[in-house]
Amino acid sequence: MVKRIADHLKRLEEGSSLRSLTRLSPDKRGEIVVGPKRYVNLSSNDYLGLASHRSLAKAAQEALSPVVSATASRLMTGSTELHHALEERTAIFKQKEAALVFNSGYQANVGIISSILGRGDCVFSDRLNHASIIDGIRLSGARLFRFRHNDPEHLECLLHEHRKEYRDALIVTETVFSMDGDVAPLKHILKLKKAYDCLLMVDEAHATGIFGPGGSGMTEQEGITGDVDIIMGTFSKALAGFGAYAAVSDIMRSYLINTCRSFIYSTALPPAVIASNIAAMEIIEKEPHRRRELLERADYLRKRLRDKGYTVFGRSQIIPLVVKENQRAVMLSDRLRKKGFWVMPVRPPTVPKNSARLRISVTYDHSRDVLDRLVEALSGI
Ligand SMILES: *Cc1c(COP(=O)(O)O)cnc(C)c1O
Repeated sequence: MVKRIADHLKRLEEGSSLRSLTRLSPDKRGEIVVGPKRYVNLSSNDYLGLASHRSLAKAAQEALSPVVSATASRLMTGSTELHHALEERTAIFKQKEAALVFNSGYQANVGIISSILGRGDCVFSDRLNHASIIDGIRLSGARLFRFRHNDPEHLECLLHEHRKEYRDALIVTETVFSMDGDVAPLKHILKLKKAYDCLLMVDEAHATGIFGPGGSGMTEQEGITGDVDIIMGTFSKALAGFGAYAAVSDIMRSYLINTCRSFIYSTALPPAVIASNIAAMEIIEKEPHRRRELLERADYLRKRLRDKGYTVFGRSQIIPLVVKENQRAVMLSDRLRKKGFWVMPVRPPTVPKNSARLRISVTYDHSRDVLDRLVEALSGI
């Protein structure tokens, strides 16, 4: 066993795939400090710059007393007023009947999928869906069919061939993809969901707070909120907090409360985290300029990169520079770091084989000036 572990690590190192943890301190305005040096942080999910927003800190601080812990799971004594307030607010924000809060996006996906599906059911899942979605499917025991990324024609082929062999079926996709920044063809998928009698679940981890007139996500932007059965999203990315939500019908909420094991068997989030999440939703409503400027800056960076000959696509704040080989991604990241930019390489298995990349995430804290400097630094490599 020990030898197998050591061999595994050695193989990872030889393939430029070994990962390790860096000690760093996040700082204000989209920067991080590592040892004596300061870097522009282009790898964070703090898209709206809320991690350093005073209202969030204030809300969290006020919720630290009289107790710092929820003290138990939601079904025991952990279901505080704040938890319910966050759920009520989330339901309004997402324009759904109800919402349920989970301890993390990972726990939400694993728990929801494995509680609604079982043996005899099937799932149609975008090939690039997040690991937590895959793990939920595995745990459910349902049959998995993976469709080519953002390819509704391929999805329809699979539905046509296999849907009728199974009892219930789920189609699941991210709305804004975490590693590619592109957007799922939601309206087309919705038609297929109806035609083939499936449930539809979407993951708005990277869309919540950013898309749609009210900032609630891509389902709002596309006007399809009412037709999506389960809208999952996180408080951990643009909302700079922690935890996740499922915006669903009342009946689905009750079902999850009764069957979702990652919800039932885990201590509820602490009140300070919940209060900060509520404050973040308030800011998203009150400060729409944050998301507007964020997307303008991302468009600006895409344009500058295209002018320099890079292939970039999408319309979100996530801009991947795909360089294919792991080694090249690591090298590019090292060189950018020397020039003061922290851009982590993303390698398999997080992304498909031979698609290693630098994943640039633009945030509200990155001015055009900083983005110009990034483009200059890249051109010099
Ligand atoms: C980050 C992420 C998750 C997990 O959310 P956490 O709250 O960080 O556990 C789930 N789905 C997608 C698409 C993500 O990017």
